[in-house]
Amino acid sequence: MRVKVLGSAAGGGFPQWNCACPLCTGVRSGAIKARPRTQTQAAISVDGARWFLLNASPDLRQQILSSADFVPPIGSRNSPITAVVLTSADTDAAMGLLHLREFQPLQIFSTIAVRRILTEENSLFRVLARSNPPVKWETLALDRLMPLIPPSPADKKSGLFCKAVSLNGTFPDYVSESLRNSLSPEEAVIGLTLVSKEKKVFYAPNLPGVGDHWARCVEESDLAFLDGTFWKDDELNSIQKGSKSARQMGHLPLWGDRGLLRWPFRPSKTRRVLVHINNTNPILNDESPESRIVRDANWEIAYDGMELAV
Ligand SMILES: [Zn+2]
Repeated sequence: MRVKVLGSAAGGGFPQWNCACPLCTGVRSGAIKARPRTQTQAAISVDGARWFLLNASPDLRQQILSSADFVPPIGSRNSPITAVVLTSADTDAAMGLLHLREFQPLQIFSTIAVRRILTEENSLFRVLARSNPPVKWETLALDRLMPLIPPSPADKKSGLFCKAVSLNGTFPDYVSESLRNSLSPEEAVIGLTLVSKEKKVFYAPNLPGVGDHWARCVEESDLAFLDGTFWKDDELNSIQKGSKSARQMGHLPLWGDRGLLRWPFRPSKTRRVLVHINNTNPILNDESPESRIVRDANWEIAYDGMELAV
């Protein structure tokens, strides 16, 4: 499997347009050693010809244009991007679907709850139904292996499979009370285990850290992309009084008691990469003590253009 990190920041990107925190100011002026980042987006492929987008970020158009892998073959009107897999209905995860509205038949894999939020309550997404054939929504049932690319008859281990795991998150604030009451809460935020030829990639850019079943998914994977949104639980509050904590926003912080860096994972060979990094997180500064702590603990900090293979 090849994975491309097309964007690595949390919502708002880095720097964020309306933010003058020390990091945003520092990256604008060049006073700190840090890379600008677009909003978190990944793409995965097993054959280099068909690409699956993991979520659809608000920066998706620019991110697609950034790689030769996504250029449509000469004379065609079809991109190598064949499907999108959604982990939630958050704006950061789904808004980019609107960039894919140019009449290309696509598949979108999501839980029933996420599909209902986007199709029943957000009429703007109906533009996706204008292609011929229209965009096809496929249901991701929890804890079940689903083929994204079916295996060839000659090699049953080929193909690409996906398993959705509930991360016990919450629905976005914008979802109405009436719709929310008719949805399964465990379908709000999922992690994805992508499987091909006995290799596993786990993708969880939003990790509330509720329960510990997700840790098994990390330990069993060869490569895991995990929530690096906040360094500390009270990070936003220290910049703007009255802000919610990281955990209240559905993000397990990196530092502190039972933070992600101190999570008691069982020993494994998993390569662990932090994505969805908020513009307030000091790990964005390559020379910060926090960035060093992360690297010394054998974690990697994703950046736009990072490519990995397992
Ligand atoms: Zn900022």
